[in-house]
Amino acid sequence: MDTSGGVVRKVIPFGAPVFDEREIQAVSEVLRGPILTHGPWGEQFEARFAELTGAPHAVALSSCTAGLHLSMLALGVGPGHEVIVPAQTHTATAHAPEMCGARAVFADVDPATGNISTAEIERRITPRTRAIAVVHFLGLPCDMDAITALAARHGLPVVEDCALAVGTRHRNRAAGTIGATGCFSFYPIKHIATGEGGMLTTTDAAIAARVRKQRAFGIDRDVAQRSIPGVYDVTMLGNNYRMSEMQAALGVVQLQKQTEMAEQRRRNAAALRSKLSAIPGLRLFRDAQPHETHSHYCLSIMLEPDTGLTRDRVVLALKEHGIGASIYYATPVPLMTYYRQKYDYQRGDFPHAEFIAEQTVSLPVGAHLDADDMDYIAATVAAVINQG
Ligand SMILES: *Cc1c(COP(=O)(O)O)cnc(C)c1O
Repeated sequence: MDTSGGVVRKVIPFGAPVFDEREIQAVSEVLRGPILTHGPWGEQFEARFAELTGAPHAVALSSCTAGLHLSMLALGVGPGHEVIVPAQTHTATAHAPEMCGARAVFADVDPATGNISTAEIERRITPRTRAIAVVHFLGLPCDMDAITALAARHGLPVVEDCALAVGTRHRNRAAGTIGATGCFSFYPIKHIATGEGGMLTTTDAAIAARVRKQRAFGIDRDVAQRSIPGVYDVTMLGNNYRMSEMQAALGVVQLQKQTEMAEQRRRNAAALRSKLSAIPGLRLFRDAQPHETHSHYCLSIMLEPDTGLTRDRVVLALKEHGIGASIYYATPVPLMTYYRQKYDYQRGDFPHAEFIAEQTVSLPVGAHLDADDMDYIAATVAAVINQG
């Protein structure tokens, strides 16, 4: 393949929903019917998602961020409390406790996986700690044996941020069913797309009931239970964090394709990993071990510092060849202005998160791509690295 002169050029977006006539049909059905929210598609999406994960309770929401916020509220997180979160994550993981008036306390990550380090969690537990939030980074499960044991010793609940973890499993349990709650995202470039959308899973019936209420203003009964429309009581504070029927219809169809899409991601990731492992100057995060299932959100390459290549230069060079590379995540959350100024964090406070932020480039392996795309990505990465 000639990638040097730009003769062979593909266009490979980092992420794209895999929609076909089935999604269009399902959304059309909603639009032709009378119910746009609180309806049967939402109930079906929750039931199918509960089946996929094995969670006894699944509550559809407007986003993963809504799920993280409601998780913190359900666990009693409030002013004066601390919640330990990974330094290398989406800002939503940290914002959730902060939105409750608590403090997000950042812990550095394991350089081999990007997942939160158990030793770093332990170092940051104080009498004010109220919960631990973990992120299955890029779809590789966290060390849930060690984390749940540590949490149990201190009587702390664990919230799983599963935004990148549809299909992730640890010792044959789905991500999102190991901690107190799991929060999933259906943002367009995630494993399952509904435009915006999220799901909270839990094994705890009381948490599920509370989240159902707080996603809809804290109203004491749902629409089906209101014999006279508009007559209801409000028993607690709540938000409007509901999912619409159009979104749920997309979700139901996407779940029918989930096995197929997950297999395509797995094939893509395996092919790309084997091709990239031969390129000097690159390091990869470790792959899943036998007791783990990776959801393969993307495949990140770490540039060895001695290559002299910068992350941004590689991303731009790939872009010139039509490849939509991304960076997960380009700045550790504690070094973002809001957190840096509020808590006076400095560069050097989270060395592993900072190394990952500065030296990694995330390559696409989504279900919208195939084996030819992986060949093209690997050849282009090799050419970019060789040119230095
Ligand atoms: C995308 C993402 C979120 C936010 O998800 P939304 O559904 O957009 O709220 C939270 N955490 C992680 C790790 C993410 O990647």
